[in-house]
Amino acid sequence: MNTLDARDLSFAYPDGTTALGGIDLTIEAGERVAILGPNGAGKSTLLSLLAGLRDPASGEVRYFGTDESADDLRDRIAHCPQTPADYLFNATVREDLEYGPAQLGIDRGTATGRIDALAAEFGLDGLLEKPPFRLSGGEQRRASLAAALAVDPELVLLDEPVADVDADHREMILDALDRRNEAGTTIVVSTPDADLVPRIADRVVLLDRTGSIVRDGQVREVLTDH
Ligand code: ADP
Ligand code: ADP
Repeated sequence: MNTLDARDLSFAYPDGTTALGGIDLTIEAGERVAILGPNGAGKSTLLSLLAGLRDPASGEVRYFGTDESADDLRDRIAHCPQTPADYLFNATVREDLEYGPAQLGIDRGTATGRIDALAAEFGLDGLLEKPPFRLSGGEQRRASLAAALAVDPELVLLDEPVADVDADHREMILDALDRRNEAGTTIVVSTPDADLVPRIADRVVLLDRTGSIVRDGQVREVLTDH
């Protein structure tokens, strides 16, 4: 059964800006998908709709072949916003990493083991007791991604996950996402950077400036004529 099935999604902001129109997108379990498009194409809007954080003006999104809403599937779906500070609102980085598992009622021992592993994976060991607002942009990015993964989701939707990150930490993040994907996690990542796509995805969905899908296929096929 597919992981995500979006039919005829459209969305307009209250000021009348049409951000997306007629989006059809089916993602299968275990895929690595990049949403590629220029700034303003609607990538963030699309990820927020796919994560159930906004309601579409029309259309619907179904998950895992069920009728359940994204809200009821918080244990299976995680979304990390483009601005990491939006995901970090607790007193310390550790508390931000604990927040998702605690919301889901995951026992403390399990959560602590996961958080220790994520801290090592994302280079956060020296940062866990710090207030998130004291972190650099790149550190906040890594903390927000670790927080999103702390619920051990089946589907992760990551909005520009390596923006503002230096080259070493970029590889750290991309390697961590590769490991998740190899373990079966479905990964959807937005980026404005076509050069990044072959590193992060097997399939690419290209959005144009009007918020429509203009290409959808294997990276090798789509990006040769791009
Ligand atoms: P991307 O992530 O590809 O840069 P966005 O999804 O952020 O694109 O934006 C898509 C379109 O919606 C753009 O034209 C943007 O200006 C507009 N937009 C985004 N957020 C808002 C908002 N809160 N109110 C009005 N327009 C918005
Ligand atoms: P909303 O305002 O609709 O709750 P948010 O972006 O604040 O939207 O949160 C969306 C989902 O992500 C919520 O289920 C929330 O519990 C979860 N969430 C937000 N921030 C964190 C975080 N730092 N760690 C884990 N989960 C988080």
